This record gives sequence, structure tokens and C-alpha cells, in this order.
Amino acid sequence: VWDRCLAYIKDNIQDQAYKTWFEPTQAVRLDDNALYIQVPSKFFYEWLEEHYVKLLKSALTRELGPGAKLLYNIKMENTGGDKIPYTEQIPSKNREAVQPQEVEAPFENRDPELKNPFVIPGIRNIHIDSQLNSNYNFENFVEGDSNRLARSAGKSVANRPGETSFNPFLVYGGVGLGKTHLAHAIGVEVKEKHPDKTVLYISAEVFSQQYQDAIRRKARIDFIHFYQLIDVLIIDDIQMLSGKTGTQEVFFHIFNYLHQNRKQVVLTSDKAPVDMQDIEARLLSRLKWGLTAEIQHPELETRINIIKNILYRDGVSMSEEVIQYIAENVTSNVRELEGSVISLMAQASFNHLEVNIDLAKTVVDKFVKNVKQELSVDLIQKTVADYFKIDLDVLKSKSRKREIAQARQLAMYFAKQYTKNSLASIGAQIGNRDHATVLHACKTVNNLIETDKEFKKYAEDIKIKLSM
Ligand code: ADP
Ligand code: MG
Repeated sequence: VWDRCLAYIKDNIQDQAYKTWFEPTQAVRLDDNALYIQVPSKFFYEWLEEHYVKLLKSALTRELGPGAKLLYNIKMENTGGDKIPYTEQIPSKNREAVQPQEVEAPFENRDPELKNPFVIPGIRNIHIDSQLNSNYNFENFVEGDSNRLARSAGKSVANRPGETSFNPFLVYGGVGLGKTHLAHAIGVEVKEKHPDKTVLYISAEVFSQQYQDAIRRKARIDFIHFYQLIDVLIIDDIQMLSGKTGTQEVFFHIFNYLHQNRKQVVLTSDKAPVDMQDIEARLLSRLKWGLTAEIQHPELETRINIIKNILYRDGVSMSEEVIQYIAENVTSNVRELEGSVISLMAQASFNHLEVNIDLAKTVVDKFVKNVKQELSVDLIQKTVADYFKIDLDVLKSKSRKREIAQARQLAMYFAKQYTKNSLASIGAQIGNRDHATVLHACKTVNNLIETDKEFKKYAEDIKIKLSM
């Protein structure tokens, strides 16, 4: 049972978090619907309860039904010849969390029997689950020079949604710098200040999938109507709409409607509008109507504050020296900063060590090194060739056989997405082709993902392989 729960959990959290917090756990026994799991220390137990209770709940409920219970055994801290391996048994403190709970199904999961999932009767009385994560709020979004403009503009938008000139409000910046956090924070704050407003957070990717589903079900109009009900629409990672002309077109339509009706639109992107590729010009020009704010890399001082914020949140203390060391060495982005602090805490707890500067050095250096293993064009080609069980040379060859050409195009597409190589350099590395070929490949892949289910599956599989 626990294995299946773990599989489910793995699919729903980041790899790093899974490795840190779930791999060290073990199922001990199952009594009726109570599952006992063993965790390495009390710290683990507290962490799991604090951060993953919702996820654990849904995993267990799936396996054992609504009455499921989770109990923790904490591994003895001193292993001096113990016969009984587990000393304490702690019930999940969030007991109600494992009770059946009224959870509003996100609308893509609504009853498939309904002929038309987008038609919602009684227009204004509907409840749309906002899909917000309240752990991402303004209180725990650390302010610094790198994000000050975005943060304060976000606050204004949340206070007076649809009424400021920041409409749309577009936040852009590199990965792991806090775009998604800020996007949720805006939504969460709107909900607090204006409980009557309908807020929806959605990633551009899911938005696009929903749209394609709607098209398949011949429910395009209902899709549009659904989105027209929203007061504050937050779409994350709109660069994902690149090349998806159908989705762009419907978004354009929805955007215009919302904007005209003084509803708020909040968008995030990993690129500045000028650098967005394959986004229709009329849509790009709409983005300029409001405010575009960049989140930059956090400077040292902000990094220190972010670390302190995490420590404070989790009630852990570390010396100034250790904090300084982490902040000076983990510079890439906030996600990695967080990751390294968390692995340090986990390591310390796991081995019953104190966090001193030596431990910090070991953990942080390893962490930074692991992260630096960025994807290369070479690794991407190999992964794709492996996936299709073809030789790397064949993939690079001039063969025009459909499956080989498609594999090659996928390699180019992912190389463009996941590396910083230019189109020309990607082309040169994949069988000596020119930049136009790579550009064409990217477009073809985007189109195929939209139109060809089987192909889409390939792309998704490879994406997962690449992210491992
Ligand atoms: P992005 O969407 O830009 O890739 P995220 O919003 O997912 O980045 O941020 C990555 C992680 O870093 C999240 O856990 C987020 O809570 C945290 N984070 C980012 N910026 C800040 C900040 N200014 N203060 C506190 N936490 C932050
Ligand atoms: Mg994000």
C-alpha cells in the first residue's frame, strides 16, 4: 500500500523533495485502514506533517478509502541493542485531514458523465476552486532589491484587482526566482481582501490541455464561457503558449473580454515579452497594456534573508557563519537555495549531527555540484535516441524516415527548451544542420503535440526522462 502511495506522491512533488523526505520512510504494518510508517527521526515526522499532510491524505485516501489513518513510528535515536525497533507511535496530528473532506473537484476533474463539463448552471452561484496554494503568500515572500517592484505591484493588484493600470500584470524572470510564488500570493491575498471575487490560478500548460479537451468535446464556447466568469485570472508560465496558435487565439478572446469588463489578469513568464517566440503579435501587444515587472536574481542580502525565513518557518537555528556560507555559495536561484537548506537540515537530522560549518560545506558543495549537471545537447540527443531505441548516429543522420525525423526534431526541440545553446549551435551539434532547420523542428513539434496524441505522449515521456 505504502509503495503505491509513494508512487503517487512521487508524481506530485519535486524529485529532490521526494528523495529527501520520502525515500527514507518505510511501511511497518497495516491494521485495517491504519498504516504505520517508520521515519528516521522526529524531525522527519514534523516535517512530513507540516508540509505534506495534504498530499499524504490524498495518497492514503486513494488507497484505503476515506477512513484511512496514518501513524508514524520514529526510529530510535540510540540504536543500543534495541529489541523493539520503534519507540514512539505518533498519530498523524491532522486527524481531520484523513477524514473525508469536502473538496471541490478542480473543474477538469468534474464528473465525466456530465455532457458538458463547462456549462455551469446558475452562473453567479457557482464555486470555482481557485487552485491556489496558500503556502505561497506575501508574508513569506521575502522582499529584496531583486523583486521589490514585482512584489509591490503585485500587492497593489491584489488590493484593487482590475482597478489599477497594472492590467494585465506580467511578472517575468528566470527559473526558481519566485514567479509562481508571487502569482499564488496575489491570488491568496485577493481571496482574503475580496472573498466574493472568483479567482483562478492555472498554469498555461494545463490551460492549453483543457482547451484541447474542450475542442475534442466540441465545447469551445463553454470553455470560453467558463473563463469569462472569473474576476482574477492568473496564468503561470505563459511562455508555454509559444507556437500553440489555437490556445493563443482563445486566450486572446478571453483576455479581451476580461479586460473590457475590468477583471484582473495576472501572467508570469520566464522571458520578457520581447524575447517570447511564436506568440502572436496582437497578443504580445496586449501584454504591453499593463505592467511588466521583472524578478531578478536575489542579491546576497536577500539570499541571507530567504535562508533565515526558511529557518524561522521551520524552527531551526543555524549559526551566522553557516548561513553566510550557504548564501555565498548557492547563487543560482531561490529554489536551489531552499533545496540546499532543506537537505542540510535533513542530513543533520538523519545523522543526528549538529549543523556546523563542516557539515554545511559538505552538503552545500555536493548540492551545488549536483545542480550544475545541466542538460547538454548531447545528453538530450542520447536520451531521445535511447527512448526510441535508435542509434545516436542514425538520429544524427540525414535519414528522412518519419520516426527518425521525428526523434531528431524532438531532440532539437528539447535542446532549445532546456539548454542555452543558440539555434545554430543546436543544429551544428545534431548532425550539422542550420538554425532554420532547428526552428522548423521546434514549430513542427509544437504542432504535433497539439494534434497528435501519440506524439504528445512521446514528448511527455522524454520530458520526464530529462527531468530525472
Ligand atoms: P519560479 O516560478 O520563478 O520558477 P517559484 O515561485 O516556484 O519560482 O520559486 C521557487 C521556490 O523559491 C519556491 O519554493 C518559493 O517559495 C521560493 N521563493 C522564491 N522567491 C522567494 C522569496 N522572495 N521569498 C521566499 N521564498 C521564495
Ligand atoms: Mg514557476
